[in-house]
Amino acid sequence: MEYVPGSGLKLRKLGVAEAQHMLGLTYQTGGVVRRNYKQACEWYIKALRNGNGFSANNLGLLFSQGEALPDIPVDFERAIGYFKVGSLLGLVRAMESLTLHYFYFGSRTLATVWYTYCLKYNTMNITLRELFSGINVLKGFSVEQFEHELDQELQNSAMREFVMVKDYDTDPNGIERKRELRCKILGLSYKSGGLAPISKSDIIIEHRTSVKQAKEQIPKITLSITTNPAKLFPVASPNLIGLKPIAFKDMDKSDKDKIYEGFAIKVKVVEDAIIGFMTSIHLIVEDENGDLERVYIYNYPHVDASHDEIGYGCAFTIVNPYHRLMTDGKWAIRLDDPNLLIKHPQIRDVDRCRYCGKGKSELKCRLCKRVSYCSKLCQTKDLKELQHDLICFKKI
Ligand SMILES: [Zn+2]
Ligand SMILES: [Zn+2]
Repeated sequence: MEYVPGSGLKLRKLGVAEAQHMLGLTYQTGGVVRRNYKQACEWYIKALRNGNGFSANNLGLLFSQGEALPDIPVDFERAIGYFKVGSLLGLVRAMESLTLHYFYFGSRTLATVWYTYCLKYNTMNITLRELFSGINVLKGFSVEQFEHELDQELQNSAMREFVMVKDYDTDPNGIERKRELRCKILGLSYKSGGLAPISKSDIIIEHRTSVKQAKEQIPKITLSITTNPAKLFPVASPNLIGLKPIAFKDMDKSDKDKIYEGFAIKVKVVEDAIIGFMTSIHLIVEDENGDLERVYIYNYPHVDASHDEIGYGCAFTIVNPYHRLMTDGKWAIRLDDPNLLIKHPQIRDVDRCRYCGKGKSELKCRLCKRVSYCSKLCQTKDLKELQHDLICFKKI
């Protein structure tokens, strides 16, 4: 099959594991194709064989659902196995799923062990935090020891085929190394604590291509973003007191859409804004860990002055961020209510190096005289790796 059904998305444009996971998700959620849990499972298993932890979590959920799902027998043992595999692949969501499963259907003791494990990975799950408030977590819990035992257990179970790299036993950083090895074998990019399917340069070059198209008034072929109204809206009105910080790496990538109610993410705009071209304003932002994400802002004035408020170098905080899987199979933050955007005009940084982000960079591009670099090396890299020529305009 060449395409992900209904999305117009070519499989080879995604990593194999991600594409297989997307197919599973498509069959599980239905809509563009007839819902088919059996097919969903088959695709998730393929994705999991390629190391996709999100698929492991969804398989666990499918096998623990019961009669609600036709064709899928309830199989707690299998469900638990899949959750464990997902956990070992570093997916916090899988750890949380199993904790909840033990809490409701198994032993509270096991649930507490798993909750302690979730905390070691900084779980953001509010339900869990509420369920376990007042329950003592384990003292002296060793993640390394726990994961080592988990791995041994899975090696000797029906889940054996999903935990394949074995040569880490003597290494104290074994699990981390194991994930890295898996990613290498599978050709995925590796990031501590999870998989990073999209590279920084992909996201930037794609955005710069849109900037060029906007400047040259080439109508974009895919206007999917404008034809998909928001499906979710925050239930709580923004209450700035007690907001918890969140980063892009903490955002769950196993669900399609999610609003992080009660959370806020502080970002800086690191590429030129696309204003006045499509219904929304398109931005590329960087969070405090240096991770990039796309942001689409609706209901904001499409005027030149907006470049000074939310354009290149500007900083702001997004309250209740709405994390959404777009039709191109990649993630973005969608903002429909500009009241959820808190600007920080005092920290605007327009002279940051376009390649490495270093502040107060004075070397300017000779042609556009608009973008700055800290060094000749960064300028060369920006041109060669990130195709500066796409945005080499005197005015944006
Ligand atoms: Zn630089
Ligand atoms: Zn230039």
